[in-house]
Amino acid sequence: MSNSPLCCMRQISPNRNSPRNHEFDTLTPHCAVGQMSIQALCNEFSRPSKGASCNYGIGYDGSRGTVVDEADRSWCSSSAANDNRAITIECASDAFWPYAINANVWKSLVELCADTCKRNGKTKVLWLGSKEATLAYSHKPGEVVLSAHRWFDNKSCPGDYIYNRLGQIAKEVNQKLGGAPAEPFKAYQGQVNADDGLNCRTAPVNGRVLKVYTDGTVVTITKEDGCWGYTGEGWVCLDYINKIASAKDPAAKEESIMDGKQFKKMYDDINPTYNTLEEVPDYWRDDIRELVEKGIISGVGGGKLGLTHSECKAAVLAKRIAEKLK
Ligand SMILES: [Zn+2]
Repeated sequence: MSNSPLCCMRQISPNRNSPRNHEFDTLTPHCAVGQMSIQALCNEFSRPSKGASCNYGIGYDGSRGTVVDEADRSWCSSSAANDNRAITIECASDAFWPYAINANVWKSLVELCADTCKRNGKTKVLWLGSKEATLAYSHKPGEVVLSAHRWFDNKSCPGDYIYNRLGQIAKEVNQKLGGAPAEPFKAYQGQVNADDGLNCRTAPVNGRVLKVYTDGTVVTITKEDGCWGYTGEGWVCLDYINKIASAKDPAAKEESIMDGKQFKKMYDDINPTYNTLEEVPDYWRDDIRELVEKGIISGVGGGKLGLTHSECKAAVLAKRIAEKLK
């Protein structure tokens, strides 16, 4: 069995049995009871004293990690029989009822389930609605069933939010499995969104780090493998790339990107802030001076007027209207 290329990290837990003793035919999503990052999830489930693990984890931002290889049995669902046949997935969730997962985690979970089925020759996911029906079911070729931790222990896992939506999860995974073939890949540009920089590797997940792109760097993704993209220099995790546009003309597109700072500067150019009377354009200065002297405009403290161009215009207009109507 292979592992999912959708994962951006891999931190293998000692809490496992190698190899699993049953073919994969079950998916068991869990709620991690906390909006944890993928790093925190991987740390938690790879601590030897934890005595528990999962095949995959999904952090609150949708990032995925491998904790136990698919070929091995995780210690996740309080049932050796279940975990030997299941791929188990711990999802970052609220720490309180109904243990909801956010939209990023939902999307990542559906993608991960579909990817796991595809790589293992599975074509259909079933939600049979109960423990009895599920355990009594004989799989037809290509079928996978969904199961729940709460069936095997006195726990609420995977939480009512996920449990009540297992039918919807099956439906969305099946749409991906039976869906129209993907459109041909088109290169596109993306901007690195990672405060500490983004590793560029020789291969997805485990490749050697070739370089680090600084935050804000624009790269052109020319091919994809799961959640990894190739930049022409190496592979980066697409969880940290904000897609910009299709890359017909990379040079022109690069100039069109505006970050927050640039936007603020442009906005300030259009609508500058005046902090002294001298800075106010001379055609409004006398009116603004009068309004200040009469205490109608009091400034923003520290002797600063703090009036934007458009605020000056509104104030002068109001003053002139008042004068006209006197
Ligand atoms: Zn669980």
